[in-house]
Amino acid sequence: MGNRTAVLGAGITGLYTAYKLAEKGKHVVVLEREPLMGGLAGNVERKGAIFDYGPHTFFLDDAMKEEFYRIIDSKEVNVFRTNAKIKFGNKYYHYPLDAIDILIKSNPIVIFKCLSDYITAKVKMKTSHSIDDSAESWIINRFGETLYRIYFEKYTEKVWGLHPKFIAPSFTEERIPLLNLRQTVKATITKAIKRLIRGEEREKFTYIVWGHYPKKGPGAFFERLANKIHSNDGIIHLNSKLNSIHLDGRRASKVSFEKDGDIKTIECDYVVSTIPINELVKQITPKADSPILKAANLLRFRAVVFVNLLVKKQDIFEARMLYFRNRTFNRVSETNKFSNELVPKGLTGLCAEITCDKDDETWNADEQQLCDKVLRELEEEDFFVRKDVVYSFVTRKEHGYPVAALNYKENLNILRDYINNIENLFVTGRQGLFRYLQMDHCMKMGFEVAGQILSQSER
Ligand SMILES: Cc1cc2nc3c(=O)[nH]c(=O)nc-3n(C[C@H](O)[C@H](O)[C@H](O)COP(=O)(O)OP(=O)(O)OC[C@H]3O[C@@H](n4cnc5c(N)ncnc54)[C@H](O)[C@@H]3O)c2cc1C
Repeated sequence: MGNRTAVLGAGITGLYTAYKLAEKGKHVVVLEREPLMGGLAGNVERKGAIFDYGPHTFFLDDAMKEEFYRIIDSKEVNVFRTNAKIKFGNKYYHYPLDAIDILIKSNPIVIFKCLSDYITAKVKMKTSHSIDDSAESWIINRFGETLYRIYFEKYTEKVWGLHPKFIAPSFTEERIPLLNLRQTVKATITKAIKRLIRGEEREKFTYIVWGHYPKKGPGAFFERLANKIHSNDGIIHLNSKLNSIHLDGRRASKVSFEKDGDIKTIECDYVVSTIPINELVKQITPKADSPILKAANLLRFRAVVFVNLLVKKQDIFEARMLYFRNRTFNRVSETNKFSNELVPKGLTGLCAEITCDKDDETWNADEQQLCDKVLRELEEEDFFVRKDVVYSFVTRKEHGYPVAALNYKENLNILRDYINNIENLFVTGRQGLFRYLQMDHCMKMGFEVAGQILSQSER
């Protein structure tokens, strides 16, 4: 078996896979359609300031921490505890939700209703057969109706553009921070007594995670990866969009891509794809059968529009990130709380995230109008006044979140079955697997795929 691998996409999964292969002497060619690396976790620079597409913190277990710090020096990274809050009514609550925090801050009648519904739901789960046929029923069956209506229903609908009734129950297992409520209920109520008696730290019992954030933004990590790929003779083509994958029987033999208006073709022994699975399937020749292409058209991603502001003020938020249910944006973050090396001295950066569908009204909105709208809402929150804002701009990502609509698994399985028949095509990453993955998961996926290719190529 030969040695050349074409890697589609220079997000964290593609770059990390390419790095692991190149490190072992395999020839890699990475194709990235954008002018910059990093994909969803990349950076954009304007007016001497660095912005993420929504803040991107690395959450690393011990194995991944070791890998991460083999690539970037620890002196270049800030380490901190996660610190986010969500606004319900006029109060901020810890996010993910913390049972004690809710108990302290909520209206006693609401607490009573939440607890009685929660206990009823638990009893019902034990004594009768509760059906989980959507994200809505999944949550109500486990946490009760009141918690669901207050803390889950509206926010989820806003983020996903779908009512939880139309979201698959499996989605809740992977995605909803509300699920930490179960951990926190267990941790904070059951073990709070232990804490009081033994004086143990609160951290052990609540959902606090350590984050690792490169001081110059996640883009610094991708530069290090790219340097390592280059130093092992790997190639990264930017502005290079996949045009087609040519099949020779059950193997992919060539990959064509469009760069600077030309179509170029490379021969390959393996292909690793991290691009959206439905787009990949459409680029394979000979063309897939029409039920497969139909399934590809039915998988949907939620897009994200980011309104970025450079503000002449410091320490604006009481947390690193704030979530909102009743604003145009779902979440807003402050760059200086991640690293004060991202923006020029005396300023801070804010990034407001708005989920939408590609080509809808928000996606196509005029940049200035969108900035004005977000600015107005942030002013109403008393964070700053308009004259504090020195610069604003909008960025967009089409494939922000895979949408787990009720029937998504059927369509996804059709695509997976088709791809599994192509012996040397490995599909991975957030867009390839159509899963809500974090960056550390992406690195693990890259590690696994590189391992599979290395063992196959040595046979
Ligand atoms: C708002 C937001 C905040 C997040 N915050 C965090 C966080 O704090 N911590 C965390 O761990 N994770 C976070 N995530 C998740 C994280 O962004 C992803 O897990 C990770 O970036 C996915 O990497 P990937 O390489 O699999 O996919 P991507 O980053 O999407 O990379 C795929 C690449 O393929 C390229 N591509 C697509 N089509 C083609 C084509 N036809 N030809 C060539 N190239 C193509 C794309 O341009 C892209 O660069 C966040 C996600 C979002 C949306």
